[in-house]
Amino acid sequence: MIRFQLVAKTYPRSTRPALDDVDLVVEPGEFVFLVGPSGSGKSTIVRLALREEGITSGELEVAGHDLRRIPRRRIPHLRRQVGTVFQDFRLLPDKTVEDNVAYVLHVLGTPPVEVRKAVPEALETVGLSDLARRLPHQLSGGEQQRVAIARALVRRPPLLLADEPTGNLDPDASLEIVRLLERINAGGTTVVMATHDDRIVDALRRRVVQLDAGRIVRDEATGGYLRAP
Ligand code: ADP
Ligand code: ADP
Repeated sequence: MIRFQLVAKTYPRSTRPALDDVDLVVEPGEFVFLVGPSGSGKSTIVRLALREEGITSGELEVAGHDLRRIPRRRIPHLRRQVGTVFQDFRLLPDKTVEDNVAYVLHVLGTPPVEVRKAVPEALETVGLSDLARRLPHQLSGGEQQRVAIARALVRRPPLLLADEPTGNLDPDASLEIVRLLERINAGGTTVVMATHDDRIVDALRRRVVQLDAGRIVRDEATGGYLRAP
């Protein structure tokens, strides 16, 4: 689903690489935590995978696209295959929950009959069917993040990238969000989640890829937040 081969990334006007010699393969169906201190390169991995930034050297494939060679006109197609969730939810404040989820489908020209089917299904998956008519500010942080997840899922992407999805949530809401991501993963969606949340990583015992100063320093099949002593 994702293959980084000896990827380096140096941002313009930066002297030191944000990523260096990164080799990372994520197979379809995996659930992977990306951990590491602030500035270690987690968000850069997400941005490169979405082709928001280009790599400086190496090879990168995402969902069957060779990102070194992908033509600009194919980038929207790539992004449709990759659901994204961020720390700050990024909902449209003046649209209801259901309209937030439907919006992207309308923009893509999805037939209304399909939208009317897909939106309630996505809201059902995240447990928000009862709140479909609310506005984002009428929801808790955890509920807002579930809307963002529904929006990411409504196009049924094979891959979900979550960058600090629990960064603004209290511990209980955080655990609820990650349990939801686990359920989504159990349904077949590949999930990659960048996080600082040691409690969650330790609770789930999933694959852990640890970055430090732009390099992968640990890749464990069932790890904790910190390397086992
Ligand atoms: P993390 O997500 O782990 O906090 P980032 O991927 O955001 O790390 O950052 C990795 C490194 O790249 C840091 O040194 C950061 O300052 C730098 N960086 C991130 N974005 C930019 C940018 N747009 N321009 C220059 N440097 C950047
Ligand atoms: P995130 O909050 O997801 O980790 P950000 O892009 O907000 O990612 O910033 C991560 C790090 O990258 C921060 O240390 C920030 O100062 C640095 N950074 C972001 N954009 C730039 C930029 N244009 N130039 C230099 N450093 C940047």
